[in-house]
Amino acid sequence: MECNIMLIYCHGVVQSGKTAMLIEEYEKNENKRRLTLKSDISYRFNPKIESRNGSSISCQPFSVCRKMDFSDFDFIFVDEAQFLDEKDVFFLKEISDRENIIVFCSGITSNHKLERFDGSKALFQLSNIDIHVKKLCTCGRSAVVNWRVYKKRNEQSDNYMPICYVCYSKKKFK
Ligand SMILES: [Zn+2]
Repeated sequence: MECNIMLIYCHGVVQSGKTAMLIEEYEKNENKRRLTLKSDISYRFNPKIESRNGSSISCQPFSVCRKMDFSDFDFIFVDEAQFLDEKDVFFLKEISDRENIIVFCSGITSNHKLERFDGSKALFQLSNIDIHVKKLCTCGRSAVVNWRVYKKRNEQSDNYMPICYVCYSKKKFK
């Protein structure tokens, strides 16, 4: 992707390949000075930017960038950006414009109740480009919902399954 100075939001449902796209963009720009961040809440859960295809890169929690000197960077990558606050996104936008830095964020569009995350709302408002990464439901339609599968006794957390609205309605109202 060719881009000038801008804020990019790459978003979609779970398992759509958003993080893989972020890592690909990161690797493509290996000659640039790059900062990699992840929302603090997700960093505590896994302190790496990791895609389901097995690729991963190291990162820092988002909060550390509040006190950084951005003249050292050409690129900022932020994974799990749906969990940023609105003020974090405004901060990124300011940095991007002021310091001529390309900011590439990736995140989940909405929660399992189809409500947009705060970080996503602000990114839709402020990004110059948004890239919707599509994922198909098992029935072949485009997935738009992250269906919550409650954790089993031996699992650490709930799982989420990307499904289309037709399958969602069937599951929800059955
Ligand atoms: Zn479906």
